[in-house]
Amino acid sequence: MKLTILPVEDLPLIHAGDNLPALIAERCVLKEGDIVSIASSVYSKAKGHTRKLIDITPTPRAQRISKMTGEDPRFLQSILDASEDVLIEFPFILSEVACGHIGVRAGVDQSNIEDGMVIFLPPEPMKAAEDLRKQILEISKKNIGTIITDTCGRSFRRGQTGNAIGWSGMTAIRDFRGDTDLFGHVLKITEEAVVDEIAGFANMVMGESNNGVPAVIFRNIPAWAGHDNLYFKGDEDITRRVLKKEWK
Ligand code: GDP
Ligand code: MN
Ligand code: MN
Repeated sequence: MKLTILPVEDLPLIHAGDNLPALIAERCVLKEGDIVSIASSVYSKAKGHTRKLIDITPTPRAQRISKMTGEDPRFLQSILDASEDVLIEFPFILSEVACGHIGVRAGVDQSNIEDGMVIFLPPEPMKAAEDLRKQILEISKKNIGTIITDTCGRSFRRGQTGNAIGWSGMTAIRDFRGDTDLFGHVLKITEEAVVDEIAGFANMVMGESNNGVPAVIFRNIPAWAGHDNLYFKGDEDITRRVLKKEWK
């Protein structure tokens, strides 16, 4: 595998109403089969999935959590509003958003946006990735894949990495089950979360602060086959059941 990884340079600060796929496509020469990773923060800014803290009235729950965490109760309320299910409240809110992603503070960001504003994860990230793929196809005439990423914390290990929040033109998982290893053993468990691996590298190229690179192109990644069931469902999710004290 010989990959080419290209940051998309010179994108402006993104604001609500900006045509993100056009801004990306006019700054690069895409090739058939490329995968374009796009930071969720810029997608959300372009679509106006942001709020001003000044417009938010915290509920008693947000006030109560604020007393424990010391965070602005309006910021906490924005997180609660974005959450479908809160797994823990302290020392940080860990919650599930509508698409099934579970993240610290529901992925709500206060960085790379003006003071007093928050950025939400795209509410329908799969549709967002599909729309971006189709719009880039229309402009560039190239069939590409798209991955919308976010920087996420993880359990058990310090340090954040990029995760895929939405994707289109590929499956999330490369399914190795049924394949044989070097010794002829049949693999029973291995499902590789390829979209997260690409998102992880994209996140590294993007950087976190003032790099100004919210889009990264991956070229020559061989196609893979698998499925899209990235999120555990119901009883499969042991960690969540433990956190919710449902695990016996
Ligand atoms: P997140 O990981 O999706 O939450 O996004 P980050 O805030 O970490 O930003 C990812 C990358 O995009 C970093 O290189 C930022 O500097 C860059 N970035 C964020 N917002 C903008 C923007 O409006 N314009 C440009 N050009 N880059 C941005
Ligand atoms: Mn983020
Ligand atoms: Mn980031």
